[in-house]
Amino acid sequence: MKLSAIVKKEIAVDPEEKCCRQAMLSAVIHTGGTVSFSREGIKIFVGGGCLVAEALKDLFTALYGGGVKLEKSKAVIEGDSVRGALISLGIFKTSGEIESGIGGMLARGECCKKAYLAGAFLGCGSVVLPKSGYSLELLCESEALRDDLIKLFAHFNIVAGTAEKDFKYKLYIKDGQTVSDSLALMGASKGMLQLNALIAERELKQVTARLSNCDLANLDRTVEVSVKQCEAAAGLKRKGLLVDKKLADVADARLKNPEASYEELGRLMGISKGAVKYRLGRVVSLWDNKEK
Ligand SMILES: [Zn+2]
Repeated sequence: MKLSAIVKKEIAVDPEEKCCRQAMLSAVIHTGGTVSFSREGIKIFVGGGCLVAEALKDLFTALYGGGVKLEKSKAVIEGDSVRGALISLGIFKTSGEIESGIGGMLARGECCKKAYLAGAFLGCGSVVLPKSGYSLELLCESEALRDDLIKLFAHFNIVAGTAEKDFKYKLYIKDGQTVSDSLALMGASKGMLQLNALIAERELKQVTARLSNCDLANLDRTVEVSVKQCEAAAGLKRKGLLVDKKLADVADARLKNPEASYEELGRLMGISKGAVKYRLGRVVSLWDNKEK
């Protein structure tokens, strides 16, 4: 199951308080609904799948006793009898116009603010997980609504970015920790744990990759240096140019132990690591000068 679906399933529960129920319901309808006016009156379709449609129906029924039916995977709020409910939910103004942002009385209390955000996620939210990075996105039809949602997140110290996409207004939260905090805020603790596990797994992979790159790079350098020392040692020996006993010994030791570190060579020869490095350096420079 995708993380978005897990989160939606988790937050699509009826809040205990009536105030929160109203806030959540309003958010789902406002962010996920499309309104149509016909001869039969108002009709609002809310998509987002069966889970969202059923949650919406339950919330609406709990508050207003009915007025929602399910059509395929959509919830349909229908009939002029629901006008009063939609006004109290801040979807319509009393004048009949559609509210552009979050209605004044909704999302006042701390509990309702969280419920509203959860409802908005149900209506238009998703968690996007590209190969690297994390993003929680809400895609709104109205700019005013998107901006009100940004204020709600800001109330909980969560900074959201904005973008426009296909004539819709996007709010996004990047960075794994902030996305994780947002999920917790909306009441999706299981979703949050799952995301945290993914973040930890990715971090571990990065560290392991960095370490192994680092090892390989070091190994490459060591091998390269050793190859050069062996070439020099063999070349000088061949030409009988290793008259200095100390240099001749270190050259032999290197040729016999091409993979040994300076420390290991030092131990073999009974001299310090620094002395090995210095003498092998002399061997290489002797050969380099000879070649020129
Ligand atoms: Zn509340």
